[in-house]
Amino acid sequence: MNKPISTTCPYCGVGCGISALADESNHRLLIKGDSSHPANFGRLCSKGSALGDTIELKGRLLKPSVYGRETNWAEALDLVADKFLSTIETYGPDSVAIYGSGQLLTEDYYVANKLMKGFIGSGNMDTNSRLCMSSSVAGHKRAFGADTVPGCYEDLEHAELIILIGSNTAWCHPVSFQRIRAAKETNPLLKIVVIDPRRTASCDIADLYLPVASGSDAWLFNGLLHYLSAGCAPRTNPSYIEQHTEGYAEALAAAENADIDQVAAQCRLNKEDLQRFYEWFATTDKVMSLYSQGINQSSSGTDKVNAIINCHLATGKIGKPGSGPFSLTGQPNAMGGREVGGLSHQLAAHMDFSNADDIDRVARFWGSQQIASKPGLAAVDLFNAIYDGKVKAVWIMGTNPVVSLPNADKVKLALQGCEFVVVSDCIANTDTTALGHVLLPAQGWSEKDGTVTNSERRISRQRALFQPAGKAKPDWWIISQVARRMGFEAAFPYQSSAEIFREHAALSGFENNGQRDFDISAFADISVQEYDQLQPTQWPVNQHYPQGRARLFDDGKFYTPSGKAQFIAISPRFPGRLPDKDYPLILNTGRLRDQWHTMTRTAIAAKLNQHKPEPFVEIHPVDAARYDLLADSLASIESAWGSMLARVHVTDSQQPGNVFVPMHWTAQYASHGRMGALVNPFVDPISKQPESKHTPVRIKSYQPVWQGFILSRHELTSISSEYWVKIKGDQFYRYELAADSIPEDCLEWAKETGCNTHDTASSLWQKYQDPAQGNYRAAMLIDNRLESVIFIAKNNQFPQRSWLSSLFVKATLDKSERMALLTGLPPEGTPDTGKIICACFNVGEQTIKTAIQKQGLKTHQDVGRCLKAGTNCGSCVPEIKTLLAS
Ligand code: SF4
Repeated sequence: MNKPISTTCPYCGVGCGISALADESNHRLLIKGDSSHPANFGRLCSKGSALGDTIELKGRLLKPSVYGRETNWAEALDLVADKFLSTIETYGPDSVAIYGSGQLLTEDYYVANKLMKGFIGSGNMDTNSRLCMSSSVAGHKRAFGADTVPGCYEDLEHAELIILIGSNTAWCHPVSFQRIRAAKETNPLLKIVVIDPRRTASCDIADLYLPVASGSDAWLFNGLLHYLSAGCAPRTNPSYIEQHTEGYAEALAAAENADIDQVAAQCRLNKEDLQRFYEWFATTDKVMSLYSQGINQSSSGTDKVNAIINCHLATGKIGKPGSGPFSLTGQPNAMGGREVGGLSHQLAAHMDFSNADDIDRVARFWGSQQIASKPGLAAVDLFNAIYDGKVKAVWIMGTNPVVSLPNADKVKLALQGCEFVVVSDCIANTDTTALGHVLLPAQGWSEKDGTVTNSERRISRQRALFQPAGKAKPDWWIISQVARRMGFEAAFPYQSSAEIFREHAALSGFENNGQRDFDISAFADISVQEYDQLQPTQWPVNQHYPQGRARLFDDGKFYTPSGKAQFIAISPRFPGRLPDKDYPLILNTGRLRDQWHTMTRTAIAAKLNQHKPEPFVEIHPVDAARYDLLADSLASIESAWGSMLARVHVTDSQQPGNVFVPMHWTAQYASHGRMGALVNPFVDPISKQPESKHTPVRIKSYQPVWQGFILSRHELTSISSEYWVKIKGDQFYRYELAADSIPEDCLEWAKETGCNTHDTASSLWQKYQDPAQGNYRAAMLIDNRLESVIFIAKNNQFPQRSWLSSLFVKATLDKSERMALLTGLPPEGTPDTGKIICACFNVGEQTIKTAIQKQGLKTHQDVGRCLKAGTNCGSCVPEIKTLLAS
């Protein structure tokens, strides 16, 4: 029997510890939360719990390929090195670039950054973390002199007021949300405020919800600063301001007009609610402000971050247990990327290009004669430069910019026109690998070995569970091999991730002397065995803090030249482009509960696809009526940059004038589901983070001639309908379809898609056809085992897919099931689960409703006891509560 291995979840910045039991012979994996890991103490969300379902080898990139031809490592690496060298020789070092990812391990990131900035001599190494938290990095740097997250998760248990700002924590950082929920259950006096234009699942535990107008957060927090300092008895902390900060008077002056009436009008908030929030902040000792992409993804994201930090500095609510601003990072290793300098304006180990001494110091440490001397291109500018032909060779590592970057159609064109595109990934078919000239198979999560750092600065080990798939290699190995072929053998001698980690740790302490916050020099000499056994530890880890440090700034010392924190005077700005008569609605984008990024891994797990199976657009009932949109119909959403198709969800959780679409769908899973195509490319002038939360759009009904769905035991090979979505289920694939012309022969059309329609001696067809009404239904069984189901109609009147879907796990169907197939509804007396609410235990809406009615269940705990729903990760508790309420 194998022993469980402690590792880390590869999804969000909570950085949950996992205990994994791997069975190499069957390639199976049992997952549970690591009860000893301080980030989660055994909890996992639906995504983490389903990791064992995502490790299949089907769909993996298993061998290197060049120009579409599989080859060996030597040829692929030689080609990458040669092309990069020849491009640099002809056009200079800034003609090449690396675009990395918060999915890379710290060791991978370190080597990539060292190659580009230290030895190629260009700053053109940027990362998808630019899209996620670069405004927080810039805000921290301006206020604290360093990119420091002051607090830790433990503060959630100490806080008396927790403010969630632009963060659907319940879905995007579910385990932290569960921790907040538990803290509130333990301490009923803990108050929760949610500030978000969208009423999300996070409002489930809110004592106060402020539906702030999109983009107006800086007004809100300038107003708070004004409120704290106003009147004859200000609620600021004058001695803290005096001893530990600078710039208060200027920040206050900038907020002088932000009285409560003005702010309420600007933010379109109820004045009494606003006052209540301000009063709670003013009168509560321990306040945590948790914020994420709703703040960061803005053309004034850095100012918004500093507007929040200003309020904490003015009251001294920072660096103490239960107090402080806290940036929730999106990705598992966004923080690790920041440590090594993964953003193009950073150098390494929290040193950057703004300081000549830093450049000299890093050059000496690396032994580099050609270190870059200025920042490189940030993500949006980088892909613009590729589009313009200025960057001629790019290496994309573990990310999918054709989907995730704003103005994504232009990104696609940029890569289509680029002379040389290298993509390292563990997945074979992504929207980005489709455009790579060289594909390099990287190890996947369950094969990689190294470290990651979560939102609270905690470094954890990610450990290999399986042998690498096919010819897959660690990213650090791939990069080092190219570096050696480019002539930098001496600087890239690495044989293990431990060796790289030691070098990274040594650089963090090199000539540091307490000047830089990031210092893990205590790890500079650790042995391979110590590295293998490394326990989750919060940096800094040095001679002063050999066991790590939970909170910084508890001593009132900051990393600015004066040692004092800086207030930043904030003049709130409107988003880059406001709605107008052509594009009257504001598009907001974000994550779903059960999907991760561009679905390359989560869409493999059938149970994660059931909660929200199709791209959708949420719209307020008033707007739905205005634009003639019916619930569950299809709509086209258009911006000045692109368009997409999505299913209409009518909900008053949206404000009138706002729509929301999820960020996940790609061309691999939907014909027109890439939200990145819509998003405007405006960026924050300081952080260069794109404004993904505010794009003017218009919406109109898309009325196809027919709609339908196919459930097929086998993946379809060619889908010709205008609109399609592919959803992997348990032993089947589901396709939602719509098209502008009805097939003359539906069966023939289905055959062309790759649906198994071949009559054999053992096959049995059931068909129903009404050509006048455009209705067609068919089901095929082989030896009484369901093979495929086809439903087509001119209207959109279809049964839910849940019962039909459940039949694919059955070896044979009984007579009543076979008879009911073409109705799509279960036979009398057979329960239908309805759409899945609890992904962990596969509990559907109908099952929960029936249990509530028949058993008189009153609370979500009752539902949990009865059905287990909501008792694992708890992410579905808000929806269970909604069902109870209804
Ligand atoms: Fe993974 Fe979920 Fe934990 Fe995030 S909250 S690290 S996705 S288990």
